[in-house]
Amino acid sequence: GRETSLGGSLPAEEDAAGLRRRIEAVSSGLHPSLSDLLRRTAPEAVMGRPVRMAAGVPSWQPGRLTVLGDAIHAMSPAGGVGANTALADAAALAACLADGDVDGAVARYEADMRSRAERALAATRAGTERLLRRA
Ligand SMILES: Cc1cc2nc3c(=O)[nH]c(=O)nc-3n(C[C@H](O)[C@H](O)[C@H](O)COP(=O)(O)OP(=O)(O)OC[C@H]3O[C@@H](n4cnc5c(N)ncnc54)[C@H](O)[C@@H]3O)c2cc1C
Repeated sequence: GRETSLGGSLPAEEDAAGLRRRIEAVSSGLHPSLSDLLRRTAPEAVMGRPVRMAAGVPSWQPGRLTVLGDAIHAMSPAGGVGANTALADAAALAACLADGDVDGAVARYEADMRSRAERALAATRAGTERLLRRA
C-alpha cells in the first residue's frame, strides 16, 4: 500500500545496499530526472530517518521550567504545522512573561500551549492518515 510506497518501516540499522534498494523502490514511479538524481547520489550521503510524533501532551504541575516546540509536541511533517506551532508557543510564552508574574505566566502559557499542541497533533494525525490513505 501507500506506506510501502513511502519507504515502509525502517529497521534500526540498514546498510547502504538496503537503503539503495529502498530508494529505487520509492522512486520507480517518479519523473526520470528525479529518479536519475537519486540513483546518482553517493551512497554515503543517503540515510534513513524514521518519522515519529508525540501521542499527546502530558499533564504536570507548572513550575519555573517549561518547554515549547518539538521538545514537547514533535509531529510528523504531514500536517505542515510543527514549526508554526513552535513559533506560536514562543510568542505565547513571551506574551505571558511580559505580564510580570513568572509562576502564573508559566501556568497560563502551558494551558495555551497544550490546547494549541493538541489541535496541531490532531491535524497532523489527519494529514498522516491522508498521506498513507489508511482512513
Ligand atoms: C522533514 C521535515 C519536514 C518538516 N516540514 C515542516 C513544514 O513543512 N512546516 C512546518 O511548520 N514544520 C515542518 N517540520 C517541523 C519543524 O521543522 C519543527 O516542528 C520545528 O523545527 C521545531 O522547532 P523547535 O525550535 O521546537 O525545535 P528545533 O528546530 O529542533 O530546534 C532545537 C534546537 O536545539 C538544538 N539543541 C538540541 N539539544 C541541544 C543542547 N543540548 N544544547 C544546545 N542546543 C541544543 C538543536 O540543535 C536545534 O537547533 C518539518 C520537520 C521535518 C523533520
